[in-house]
Amino acid sequence: MPTITADALKRMLRLPADVVTGTPRVEKDPHGGDVAVVPARPYAGDMGRCARCGRRGRPYDRLGMRRWRHLDVGCVKLLLEYAPRRVDCEEHGVTVEMVPWAGRKSAYTRDFERQVAWLSVHAPRSAASSLMRVDRKSVGPVRRRVADGLRAGQGPGLFDGPRSIGVDETSYKKGHTYMSVVVDHERGRVVRMRDGHGEKAFDLFFQALTPAQRESIAVVTGDGARWIDERVFRWRPTAERILDGFYIASWASDALDKARTAAWREAGKAGAAEKGARDPIKGARRALLKNGADLTAGQRARLECVANTNESLWRAYKLKERLRMILRQSPGEAAPLPRQWAADAFLSGIPGFVPLGEKIARRRFDILRTIRSGLSNARLEAVNNRIKTTIRMGYGYRNLDNLIALVMLKCGRLNLKLPGRQ
Ligand SMILES: [Zn+2]
Repeated sequence: MPTITADALKRMLRLPADVVTGTPRVEKDPHGGDVAVVPARPYAGDMGRCARCGRRGRPYDRLGMRRWRHLDVGCVKLLLEYAPRRVDCEEHGVTVEMVPWAGRKSAYTRDFERQVAWLSVHAPRSAASSLMRVDRKSVGPVRRRVADGLRAGQGPGLFDGPRSIGVDETSYKKGHTYMSVVVDHERGRVVRMRDGHGEKAFDLFFQALTPAQRESIAVVTGDGARWIDERVFRWRPTAERILDGFYIASWASDALDKARTAAWREAGKAGAAEKGARDPIKGARRALLKNGADLTAGQRARLECVANTNESLWRAYKLKERLRMILRQSPGEAAPLPRQWAADAFLSGIPGFVPLGEKIARRRFDILRTIRSGLSNARLEAVNNRIKTTIRMGYGYRNLDNLIALVMLKCGRLNLKLPGRQ
C-alpha cells in the first residue's frame, strides 16, 4: 500500500517545520467525528528559542504533549502534536519555546487563525465560528492576534511617508466610551485606533512616532475641536490645521434635521385641518440626509413627495446638497461660493439655516482652505464612512480591543490574505 511521504505531507500542510513520521493517526474526536493528528517538530535551527524574543535560550525542561489546531483536511479536523521544551531566556526567564507554526499562547496555528480572521472580516462572526468549528468567543481574540501580527510585520513602515492625517473622536456605547481614530489620508487607511479621549490618544500617537515620521506630517484634519489645535501646536507646530470636509458637510445635515423637525411640527398643527399633512415628511429623514448621488429609487420618490408638498423643507435639502457640492469644486471655482451660499442660507429664513449662514460666512476661509487641500473628496468620505460602519458593526462587542482589531483589519490595509494565497 502506498504511503504518503513526510515531505509531501509537510508541503500539503504548508508546515514551516518537520513532520516527524509520515503517518498521521486518526482518532475519535470527543466532539464527534474523527480528528487527524500529525506529530511535528520545529527544524533544528528553530528549536529552543524564547517565544517572546526569538533568541536562543538554555534548555530548561520538556513539557508534555501539546496540540495545535491546523486547517482541516477534507472534513476532518487536523491537529499538530509536539512536546515543547521550556527554555531559560536571558531576558525573559523560563518560557515555553517558540514553535514556528503558531503564536505564543495560542492553541491554533497561524494559518488557521488567519483563515478565521479573514472569514470574520468578510462574513458574520457566527459564519466564521460554524465553518471553522471554533467557539464564537474565540473569534475575537483570534482576530486580535492576527491584526497585531500583521501590524508588527509592517513594523515602522506602517507610518512611512504620510503627508496628511485625519483625527477623529467617536463615542461608542451611547457615549460611555470614546474611541479615537487616526487616518492616513494619502493611503486611505486607519493607522491608529484606541479607546480614550482624543487628546490623550493623539499624544500617545505622536509619542510613538520617530522624529522623521513626525516631521513628515504636513496637514492635520479633524473637526473644530480646540484640543486638536493644541496637540498639533505642541507636536508638529508647522503642520497646517484643516477642517474636515465631512465635518463641514455635517453642519448642513444638522441644520437640515432641525428644518425637518420644524416642518414636522408645523404639519402637525395644520394636520388638524388637513389630514395626512405629515405623511410626506414621515420616513423621509434618511432620504433627506443621504448624499444625493447615493439615493435608492424609493428614497428618490420620497424626496419628490417632499418637493411637491413642503417647499421650505425642499429648499433646505437643496441648500444641504449645494454645500456638499461646493466642497467638491476646484479651488478656483469654489472661491466665491461659500459666501453666496451663506447669503442664501441666511436669507432663506429656514430654521437651522439662518445661523448656519452666519457660521459659513464667518468660516469661509477655513472652508476654502479645506477645498484647496484637496481633502474633501469622495474617496476620503468613503474611507470615513467605512470606518463608521465598521464601528457600528462592532457595537455588539464587549471587548474594545476586539473592535479595534476589526477596524484595523477592515480599514487598516493590513493585507489580510487567506493562507497560501498570493
Ligand atoms: Zn526572550
